[in-house]
Amino acid sequence: MLLRGKVVGSEIPRFKHRWFGILEVEADGEKYDLYMTGNAAQWFLTGDEVEVEILKEPKERDGKLVLDFDDYKLWKFYEGDRIPVWPLFEKEVEAKRYSPLTGELLYTYKIRAREAKYESDFEAIAELEQYHYASQKEKVALWRCENGHIFEANTKQRCPVCGAESHILEIKGSTPASRFLIFELVKKEEYEPRILSYVRVDPPIPLMHRRLPNGEIEKKVREKVFPEEWFHPAFWPERIMKELYEE
Ligand SMILES: [Zn+2]
Repeated sequence: MLLRGKVVGSEIPRFKHRWFGILEVEADGEKYDLYMTGNAAQWFLTGDEVEVEILKEPKERDGKLVLDFDDYKLWKFYEGDRIPVWPLFEKEVEAKRYSPLTGELLYTYKIRAREAKYESDFEAIAELEQYHYASQKEKVALWRCENGHIFEANTKQRCPVCGAESHILEIKGSTPASRFLIFELVKKEEYEPRILSYVRVDPPIPLMHRRLPNGEIEKKVREKVFPEEWFHPAFWPERIMKELYEE
């Protein structure tokens, strides 16, 4: 079933975590809660025109119609273009390994490349990331406990302040616009890791000029549109060197 609708305003923030967000869409007089990643949900504005293809019957939760991660497809309309938003990018590839001596096929890896979307994906990214740092002191991720304490660590652990369960909050050094592409083994042996590697994709945010009503062009206004944290240098060798030097 294909529905044309609009994103509606909500008291619930669209972005909850990188791996979880809720987009409220009104279509055909019904309100739907679309569960998706916060990474994807944060780009929507109230009033955005969308199209939803319902794949599975929505579940009713607290008087709302809920569509979970695998229950729908979503497109956004932008200046006449229909842009696929959900599901996130996913592609399966085969990596073949041949014997260097005989040229015979030794084994085949089936790899799924997809955008990170589950909490466990981001935990795996933190785990991979810690091996990239030359410094032992540098922690790679921020975590937040259920009572709101924020702390640094490489792996999931209980809050050092109150002992409560924690959830991964952010991969340090990434910006709110960063997306993560992971490579996972479709079929893996006991001793093989689920996620082999990842790539961080930082969408460039253009400098953004704007024309004022009087015809004047105001240059480089992106800092007025996005908060400062969106411009943390994605790769900042000077800072990394300085931190290493100070150890
Ligand atoms: Zn705590």
